[in-house]
Amino acid sequence: MERKWCVMGGSKIFDDFEIDPYLFYDAIVKSTDDYIYVIDMKTDTALVSENMWEDFELPGRIVKELVPVWGELILDRDKQRYYDSIQVMLDGKTNEHHVEYQIRNRKNEYVWVTCRGLLQYDDQGNPVIFAGVVTNLGMKGKIDPITGLFTQGECSKLVAHYMEKKEAKGGILLLGLDDFSRVNALHNHIFGNSVLRQFAQTVQRYLPENAQIFRFDGDEFAIIYTGVGKQEVYELYQKLYAYSNSRQTTDGVSYFCTVSAGIAMLNEDGDNYLDLIKYAAAALEESKHRGKNTVTFFSPDLIKEKLRRMKLGNLLQVSVMNGMKNFEVYYQPLIDAKDMETKGAEALLRWKCEDYGPVGPNEFIPVLEDNGLINQVGLWVFEEAVKTCRQWISLYSEFVMNVNISYLQMLDREFVANIEDILQKYDLNPRHIVLEMTESYFVTDMSALKEIFQKLRTIGIKIAMDDFGTGYSSLGLLAQSPADIVKIDRLFIRAIHQNDFHLQFISSVIMLCHSVGISVTVEGVENEDEMKIVRSIEADCLQGFYFSRPVPAKEFEKMKRQA
Ligand code: C2E
Ligand code: CA
Ligand code: CA
Repeated sequence: MERKWCVMGGSKIFDDFEIDPYLFYDAIVKSTDDYIYVIDMKTDTALVSENMWEDFELPGRIVKELVPVWGELILDRDKQRYYDSIQVMLDGKTNEHHVEYQIRNRKNEYVWVTCRGLLQYDDQGNPVIFAGVVTNLGMKGKIDPITGLFTQGECSKLVAHYMEKKEAKGGILLLGLDDFSRVNALHNHIFGNSVLRQFAQTVQRYLPENAQIFRFDGDEFAIIYTGVGKQEVYELYQKLYAYSNSRQTTDGVSYFCTVSAGIAMLNEDGDNYLDLIKYAAAALEESKHRGKNTVTFFSPDLIKEKLRRMKLGNLLQVSVMNGMKNFEVYYQPLIDAKDMETKGAEALLRWKCEDYGPVGPNEFIPVLEDNGLINQVGLWVFEEAVKTCRQWISLYSEFVMNVNISYLQMLDREFVANIEDILQKYDLNPRHIVLEMTESYFVTDMSALKEIFQKLRTIGIKIAMDDFGTGYSSLGLLAQSPADIVKIDRLFIRAIHQNDFHLQFISSVIMLCHSVGISVTVEGVENEDEMKIVRSIEADCLQGFYFSRPVPAKEFEKMKRQA
C-alpha cells in the first residue's frame, strides 16, 4: 500500500489556521466515549485518555511501550491477531491498524473493542506518531450487555460474509441452556443474568481461534466454527458438555446447568444464514426432546419429527378437553423384598392416540409439559391413583401408591393445596401416598424445593427420588437428601452382569441409604437371577417385569386375588 505522508501536516489549510494542540486534544477527548491514545514513536511513549486509564489496568496516563502493556490485557486467543496487525504496520505494509478483540477491564471482565490507529511518518520516512481510538463495542449496540458477547445481528453478518465463499466449510452450533427458565423462576433474573455471563465467559476459553460465540435470545447462544467438518464441531460440543456437567458456583450459589445443542453444517445443510439457523434450531429442539444435555446434527427427518410432536400436541389437547379421553392409569406392583408380598404400586400414565396408535409416556409427557397441560393431567393421574388406592386399602390395609410428579407441577403454587383437597375428597390417609420425582431436581434445585418437600412431609406424604444414578447425584449428597425412598434406575441392574462396578454401586447406595434411614427400591428387575442378587444385597423393595408389567387396575386386582 502507498504511504500517505504526513496526512494532516501536509495540508495547506493549516497554513492560515492556528490551533492550540493542547486545547484541541482536550476538546476531542472530552467529546467522545471512545478511548484515545497517541504514541511518540521515537521514545515509544504513549499518552492515553483519562477514561482509558480509568477503565483499564494501565500504569498511568503516560505509558512506556504501550503495545506490549496493552497486549497483556487482551484475551489470550485474540492476542496473536492484535500483534499481527501491529507487525504488518511496522513492516511498512500498511499504515493503518484496525482490529477487534476482547480485553480485560479493571472489573476483570472481558469486553469487545475495536481498535483503530494510524501510523504517521516524517519527511525522511521515519515513523513519528501512532495515534487512534479504541471503541467499546458494548456501547454501540453490537454487544449484548449481559454477557459481553456479539449479538445475533453480528452473527448473521459474519455468516453471510463467510458464505460468500462458495466452498465455505464449518458449522453452526446452536446452544440452549437446559431448564434455564427454572434457574430464573427459582432464584431471580439478576442471578439468571450472572449465570448467562459466567457461561458466556467460560465457553470463550474453550473456543479455538476459528470459532466465535454469539448471544441469541433468552438462554440461547450460537457458535460459528469455520473451516472444519462435523467431527471437530462435535468434539467442541463434547468439551462444553464436560464443563456444563460439573457443578458451577455463581454469586455464591451452587447449581448445575447443562447445555443442549443443535448443529447445522454450512453448505451441507443449507447455503444461507436463515436456513442454517432454522435447521440448527430444529436440531436443538430435538436435543431438548431427547432428554436435554445432548447434541443433535440436523437431518431432514427432524422436520418430520417436529411435525409429529406438533400433531401429538394437538391430539393431546383434544383428549384433555374431552374429559381425559384415551388416557388411562396403569399400575405396576412394588414388591417387598423381605416377604415378596405386593406392598404397593406405581401409577403410570398411558395414552391411546387415535392417529398414531400407542405412544409411550417418555414421548407424550414432554409434549404435555411443553403445552402447559401437565398440571391438569398430572392432577388427574393423582386423583385416579388416590381413588384406586382408596379401594385397594380396604383389601390390603398397608397398601402404598406411588405417583410420578413432573417438576412443573411442583412449581404450581396450588400444588400442595390441590393434593390435600383430593386426599380429603377420598378420605385417604396421606401415609398411603409416595410422590416420585426425578433425581436431577433434587440436586439442582434443592434450596427451592426444600420448602415444598417440607410441606408435603408435614402432611405425611413420602417422597421418592426416582431414577437414581442417571443424573449428577453423588453418594455423598444422598445423606443430606430429603427423600424417604431412593429408586435406583434400571440402567444399573441391566449392567450388573457386565462387571462388578454396577453391583457394587447398588450395594453401596443401599448401605448408605440405610445408614440414614432411607429405604431403597431397585427398578427393572426382569428375571429370577436379578431378583436373587438384589435381595442378597438387602434392597427393601423391588419393581420390574419379572413380577409384572404395568397393567390396568382390573387386571392388577385379578393378579392380587390369584396370588
Ligand atoms: P419411571 O418413573 O422410571 O417409570 C418406570 C418405567 O420403567 C415405566 O415405563 C415402566 O413400564 C418401566 N419398567 C418397569 N419395570 C421394568 C423392567 O423390568 N424393565 C424395563 N425395561 N422397564 C421397566 P413407562 O410406563 O413407559 O414410563 C416411562 C416414564 O414416563 C416413567 O419413568 C415416568 O418418568 C414417566 N411417567 C409415566 N407416567 C407418568 C405420570 O403420570 N406423570 C409423570 N410426570 N410422568 C410419568
Ligand atoms: Ca417413577
Ligand atoms: Ca424410575
